[in-house]
Order: sequence, then C-alpha cells, then structure tokens
Amino acid sequence: MSEIQYRLPQKREIAGEFPGEKSRALADRRSSVIATGVASSVPVYAADVDGGVVVDVDGNSLIDFGSGIAVTTVGGSAPKVVENVKNSVERFTHTCFMVTPYEGYVELAERLVAITPGDHAKKVALFNSGAEAVENAVKIARVATGRDAIVVFDHAYHGRTNVTMAMTAKNMPYKNGFGPFAPEIYRVPVSYPFRDPEGMNGAEAARRALEMVDKQIGADNVAAVVIEPIQGEGGFIVPADGFLPALSEWCTDNGALFVADEVQSGVARTGEWFAVEHEGVVPDLMTIAKGVAGGMPLSAVVGRAELLDAVHGGGLGGTYGGNPVTCAAAIGALDTIEEWDLKSRAKHIEAVIHASLDSLVEGTGVVGEVRGRGAMIALEFVKPGSRDPHPEAAKAVAAECLGKGVIILTCGTYGNIVRLLPPLTITDELLREGLDVLSDAIAAHDR
Ligand SMILES: *Cc1c(COP(=O)(O)O)cnc(C)c1O
Repeated sequence: MSEIQYRLPQKREIAGEFPGEKSRALADRRSSVIATGVASSVPVYAADVDGGVVVDVDGNSLIDFGSGIAVTTVGGSAPKVVENVKNSVERFTHTCFMVTPYEGYVELAERLVAITPGDHAKKVALFNSGAEAVENAVKIARVATGRDAIVVFDHAYHGRTNVTMAMTAKNMPYKNGFGPFAPEIYRVPVSYPFRDPEGMNGAEAARRALEMVDKQIGADNVAAVVIEPIQGEGGFIVPADGFLPALSEWCTDNGALFVADEVQSGVARTGEWFAVEHEGVVPDLMTIAKGVAGGMPLSAVVGRAELLDAVHGGGLGGTYGGNPVTCAAAIGALDTIEEWDLKSRAKHIEAVIHASLDSLVEGTGVVGEVRGRGAMIALEFVKPGSRDPHPEAAKAVAAECLGKGVIILTCGTYGNIVRLLPPLTITDELLREGLDVLSDAIAAHDR
C-alpha cells in the first residue's frame, strides 16, 4: 500500500472568464465540424487531468465529480497507467489478438478472472466499449442456451448500438428515430424503492418482474436476464435488498443466464470490485468496461468457462478488441486500485458524501433521496411536497456548480438525478469543497 501521488495542484480555481477565451475559440471551430448529435455537458476544453481535477485550456482548475462518466476511477493520468501505456506503445501499437496474440491480453484476462465473483472456472473475451461487451454477452447467452429472449428492466441503460439501444429504456436522446430495434428484447419493472409502492421489498419486486416474464415470454424462452446491479444512466437506482438474489435464483432454476452489466458500477466504484458483491450474487456472465482501463477504450465479458466456450472458434472478437496498449493500461489501473487501496477510498468517499448531504432530505424541499454505494451516489430531485420528478432543479444545480468550478453530471429517466462519480483519488479537501458548492447550489434552487 502506498500514498496517492499527484502531479497537478489539487485545487479549484476559475482564473477569469468562464468559459475562457481558448475554450470559446474551440467551441467556434467545433460548431463547424462536429456533428450536433455529439453533445458535451461541460463548455470548457480539457488540457490536463490528474487526481480530482480537470484543468482546462485557459488554466481553470475544476473539481471533477464525473470521472468522464465513471471511467477515470484511478484519476485521469495515474502514473502506473501512463507508464504501462508508454512502455507498451513503444514496442507495438497493434497486431490484432486474432492474428498475432500477445501476453498483455492473457495477463489481463487472468486478472479479471481473479477479481470477479465466484471461484468456478471462468473465461474472458475483450472488446472496445461497454455496448460491445453487452452485445457479445447477448451473443454468448443465445448460443449457450439455444434460446432467444433477453429480459431487461425499466430505467436500464446498456449502450447505443442496435441491440443495446433496444435494451436501453429511455427514448430521448438514446433511441428516438433510430429504430427499428432488435427483436426478442423484453422489458419488465425493476425494483426502485423510492418510487415503488410503500414497503415493497426486493422479493416482492422480483415476483412482480418474474410473473411478467412467465406470462409474457415464458421462462423456457429466456436466454438471459441482463441487469445493472445499480442502474447508472437510469438514475443510480439501487434495488431493494433481495431483488438481485431472487432474479439470480430464478435464472438458475429456469436455465437462463444471469448477466450483470457492471460497466458503470464495477471495478471498485462502489467499494467492492463489483456491485453484485454487496448482495453475494455470482453472475453467470458479467460485462466490464468504463473504470477498468484508466480511460483507455477496453471492455470485457467475463463468465463461466463453459458458457464462453459454447461459442465456435472465431465467433467472438474484433479488429481492436483487447488492443495491447489498452490491456497495459488496464493492468496499470488494477495495480493502482490495489496499491492505493481505492476500494477503501470508495467507502470513505461514500461516508463523506452522506455526512455532507443526507441532511438535505429533511432540510430542503427538492432533495427527495440521497442513495447509492461507494463513490456512486446520487440525489433525486423532486417538486417540494411531492415525489414528482424535478429535472429543472437538477439541471439548475448542476449548471450552477459548473459555473463555480465543479463538474457535476445529471442522469435519470426523468432527468432529475444529480450523480456524483468522483475519481477515487480525489483528496478529502477537494471532495468536501465540491460538496459545499453543491449544497449551496441546492439551497439557491430549493423551490
Ligand atoms: C456506459 C454504459 C454502457 C455502454 O458503454 P459504452 O462504452 O459507452 O458503449 C453499457 N452499460 C452500462 C451500465 C453503462 O453505464
């Protein structure tokens, strides 16, 4: 175990105008060449990123509560990631694992097998993005079970490719106009304690979902139940205790696969390597991406050896999947999580956030709930005196924080969730400072 190292000063500082001159000039250039379909939530352009700060091209230093959407868990330029990438890229950039294989791919697979739940024989296939991992998990599940139906949930987010768009719940902005979507994808209710009938427990919520599966799909047709153990884009929804174990048990009893999409919740984000561990669930297949490679594009499907091996030779892969530089980065990121004990940091961050924000539920009209695990915590905004979603308040709060130098993202089916995803390397001082800015912004928009 060693101390977290920083290269940049860990401070919040807005130097002058915001956005500054250089960011405004880049925004101009961008508007003539970048598709409007590709949007950015922050109006400044990044120049240097380290620990808990993003420094922009005008020298502003922002507190990072987004980690590039849960990716830079170890920080945006962790020394071990940078060193591994440099060493790797100096030797070769690419051979294609399907042409000339290399050690990094094998070593990373060994590491992923070791940190994923369950001590059964596991195997791994590597890809580039979260969506690609989810699509491949679906391919594997269909071949391994000989069945077609895929069960997904309300508020789910699984990606932007055709199959994963179909699996994603929210129309705008992810699906609108992009159909027709892939068939044999069925959506059932999730456990959403804040919005479910008062007192509905995990077992009851699972029964509600599984009755629908039995009636509308038929258990014998189900290849896989695919679920985010904590829903990410859908609003950091933590299901009631017992919901995930009940689904997993149903899968085992009915010959379907339980697939945990841990793309956002995985890799130490919630204080364990994977979020399913909080409930003692062992998935048949898992999808892993975002935080795994310190910012490099790499994803994985990890699961029971006999399931991955059900696919014929050559059936899985891709030109770049498990690129050597990204594998080196991932090994560096996993080493960093261990060496800096970042799982414990995630639990500590959770405690600091709760200590700072929990009183807002009683103390304000707009914060309905503070929930999540580890460094994956959200505030759900409601119209005062109700549980009606209040997206305007969430957006106003996020915008105000940004203007004061704190990057905060929103999410949720109703757009009414403010989500906190700081790098696990953020200092306590910076974390508390950012939370104070957030609390003040909420006080200013408490209506
Ligand atoms: C982000 C995300 C994806 C998609 O990952 P990409 O790398 O953007 O394709 C899939 N599932 C979950 C749970 C995610 O959060």
